[in-house]
Order: sequence, then C-alpha cells, then structure tokens
Amino acid sequence: MLCARPDSSNVAFMTVVDDTYTGHVESQTAARRTLPGVSIIKMSVGPMDNNAYLLTCAKTGESLLIDAANDPALLVDLVAEQAPKLELIVTTHQHMDHWLALEAVAESTGAPTAAHPLDADALPVKPARLLAGGEVLEVGDLTFDVIHLRGHTPGSVALHCGPPASGPRCSCSPGTACSPAVRGGRQRRRSSIH
Ligand SMILES: [Zn+2]
Repeated sequence: MLCARPDSSNVAFMTVVDDTYTGHVESQTAARRTLPGVSIIKMSVGPMDNNAYLLTCAKTGESLLIDAANDPALLVDLVAEQAPKLELIVTTHQHMDHWLALEAVAESTGAPTAAHPLDADALPVKPARLLAGGEVLEVGDLTFDVIHLRGHTPGSVALHCGPPASGPRCSCSPGTACSPAVRGGRQRRRSSIH
C-alpha cells in the first residue's frame, strides 16, 4: 500500500508497495505482482482511479511506465524508489485522464515517451517514439509487442509482454478509467493486467 501525502504540502514520504497482489488497488495505493523475470507495480492515481503500471526487468532493473495518468509526485517517487532506470513512458491513448502527469514525470525522470501517431497530437509531450503497432519494445530482457487497438480512440495501443513460450506474460491495454463523456457512456473498462 502506498502512503499518500496527508495534504498538499511537500512532506516527504516513502512509497510502500503491497506485495499481496489481488488485481485491485485502492486510490493512491500500489501493489506489486512478481512473475519470473518481471515485476509489475500497479498504482491507482487521480480522482478517476486510473491505473499506472511500472514494469521492471528483474535481471537489469530497467523499467517501463505505462500511463503517467495523474498524481505526478506519487509516480515520480514510485519510479525513484522502485525502478529508477526508467527507459520509456508509454501512453496508451489520448484521453486526458491517462496523461495528466506525463509532462511532469517525463521531465523529472528524463525518460522518453511513446504513443501511437493517431493519438500523439493530443498529448502534452510530443512522443519521442511513435508506435503504430507491430513493433517490439525491449526493456532489459523484457520484450513488449505493441498492438494497435481501434475503437476507444483512433490510436490506442496495448502491450503484450513476452516471450510467449516460456517467459513472463502480461498485457496492458487502455481504458482503466476514462470519464463517461470521453467513453461515450460505456461501462468502465478495466485493464487486462490481473
Ligand atoms: Zn480513454
């Protein structure tokens, strides 16, 4: 569980990540799932309960952040304390509730950002890397297949972590929050990480 700041002051605090992973995290808390070769930290941020994912290669310590959605101070602290070798920040799609912390986290960590070209123009940070789908991202010994998803937005992406035969497997797709206005009133969709 992550201890959130008691107020808006700059009181220092340490992130605490719960290792009892159930798939659900309460607001402004984090939980870790450890699989062979990879650790996955899921944190709930912002008033819309968006999920941000920090995936770290167990061998090299290099990491990937998916959706710097909100609460930049929490995410910056999480990266600094849990996986400071941040290689890339991927934004799953253009909806605002998935990138409100992107500029601050990218600036603080110095990590490059990536997104699909069809959603890139709406983001506050121009992606250093465009993901059209079909690419393979390498983070340490981890590989992520980029999958272009149409429907939620024109340029949504999901990541599948491989290798498929023997290594760690997980996936992350957009739509862990998104307001009814931007979702067209559809039911809340949950991430496919469990
Ligand atoms: Zn959305």
